Amino acid sequence: MTSKRDYYEVLGVQKNASKEEIKNAYRKLALQYHPDRNKDPGAEEKFKEISEAYAVLYDDEKRSRYDRFGHVGGEEVFRGSEANFEEVFRDMGFGGFRDIFEQVFGGRGGFGGDFFGFGGRRAGRDIVYDMELTLEDVLRGKKEEVDVPKLDRCDRCGGSGAEQGTKPRKCSACDGQGQTKRVYSQNRFSTFVTVEPCRTCHGKGQVIDHPCGNCRGTGRATKQKRIRIEIPPGVEDGMAMQLRGEGEVSEYGIPGDLVVRIHVKKDPLFERLENGHLLYNLDVKFTDLALGTELKVPTLDGSEKLKIQQGTQPEGLLRLKGKGLPRYGASGRGDIIVKLNVRVPTKLTDRQKSLLKELDRELDTN
Ligand SMILES: [Zn+2]
Ligand SMILES: [Zn+2]
Repeated sequence: MTSKRDYYEVLGVQKNASKEEIKNAYRKLALQYHPDRNKDPGAEEKFKEISEAYAVLYDDEKRSRYDRFGHVGGEEVFRGSEANFEEVFRDMGFGGFRDIFEQVFGGRGGFGGDFFGFGGRRAGRDIVYDMELTLEDVLRGKKEEVDVPKLDRCDRCGGSGAEQGTKPRKCSACDGQGQTKRVYSQNRFSTFVTVEPCRTCHGKGQVIDHPCGNCRGTGRATKQKRIRIEIPPGVEDGMAMQLRGEGEVSEYGIPGDLVVRIHVKKDPLFERLENGHLLYNLDVKFTDLALGTELKVPTLDGSEKLKIQQGTQPEGLLRLKGKGLPRYGASGRGDIIVKLNVRVPTKLTDRQKSLLKELDRELDTN
């Protein structure tokens, strides 16, 4: 879907590389391209590219999604990966990785949201829902309501985790910030600031003295939720659609996403080509091509008449304009491309044989 380079290629690792190999590869490249060290004009772009590849490949869930569906892009690439970067950057003696990332990627503006997702506090798990579509569904789009069991906000405490009639109190260790800052002096020229989750409240910014009896203070409970999924026309097999905030709720009350994976069923009549085109194999007789005729061709909306000109050659392709599929993210529909298969009769009556022989002699004399 995008022209991005393959993440494995970017890090220079094999498809089956272990997490350790991925981390080592990223560490090496980050040392080379980190904006604090490398002031070449191309270094920052390169740093972005390797960091994105690392964010995805070092995370099991994102990696397996990437292996199956390719690049997704956007802010979810980095969501939940802060700790993975922290690990590498701290080892290398770089601090302030958040600042670096916000500087390099244009920070919050760059992805239209908080870089790692909600101030570094993790969002809940994404839920994957597999949806099977026919070509008719691809033509018209599909709406479906599904019931998804998921960890959601606890009804009894409204997600606060505190028993009814009580309230969580602000964590005094971090003054409710959920994080603590540390300042390191690298040498007399530079100091680095790292931000770490508060150890007292585990990054929540608050402490619960009386936990809710239903969720035992987690603020979450498993619920069945009805979700309406709308698939637009023209989608392709292997695409994934993200429904923001419809995933599970994390311990911070932040929801993940629902990821709808599209599977398009093989069609008995049509083969899907690029650009919304569909290929249809039409059996014809030699005489249909030699004499010209009109034949019926099935389409996704019914059937169409196809005119075959006298003297049509079998290797030619015919088209039913605009009878294919809508193009995703573009306007118009593709065509049905009709491939002609000339069928030679295997059984002939005596009369058919003698007629063909007569025709054969006639053709030879021309
Ligand atoms: Zn509760
Ligand atoms: Zn705290």
